[in-house]
Amino acid sequence: MVKSAYKLLSSLQRDTRSCEPSTAQEQKKMLSGLWKLQILNKVKIFAWRACQNGLPIKSNLKKRQVALEDNCVFCGTEEEDIIHAIYQCRTIRQCWIDLGLGLQLEARYIDFVEFVTIAQKNGSKEEVEKFLVIAWGFWYRSNKKMFDDSEVHPIAAVHQTLALWSDLKQLKGIGKKSNGRWIAPLVGSL
Ligand SMILES: [Zn+2]
Repeated sequence: MVKSAYKLLSSLQRDTRSCEPSTAQEQKKMLSGLWKLQILNKVKIFAWRACQNGLPIKSNLKKRQVALEDNCVFCGTEEEDIIHAIYQCRTIRQCWIDLGLGLQLEARYIDFVEFVTIAQKNGSKEEVEKFLVIAWGFWYRSNKKMFDDSEVHPIAAVHQTLALWSDLKQLKGIGKKSNGRWIAPLVGSL
């Protein structure tokens, strides 16, 4: 018992040491870019928690002994970690292909921080926003399935999240116009 606890502690310390330098730097960079994006706060918080690997994804729930197994709630065959849930699952792959984002994300980016860092390097601000918004939508869809046993079609999830994002962009646009500094006055109004 003592021996296995010691082994676990040693492996955790080893993991922490090996992750610290690059992860801390990448997270700092990624997070500073993240807060400047024009996306809902809940999407930013989702991305931040995903960077800490702190989302209630099956693989995490199994590690914490909340779930007995870690199979994906949709395909049922692969382990559901964050990258699988938002990007790699075969049930949502076609949606990403159809979206045609030029982010060049590949399966080898297995860490969320690295995944978003690559997206930031390869994509425009709008593409990164779109990527995070859709990723949040798929994560939310996965939660609905796991906790409410309610299934949303992937295409519907994409449409719903894009509509939310578009509403936000419009609201921000209206906010800008309403401060009135850059709107040309109507003819005859002066
Ligand atoms: Zn899956």
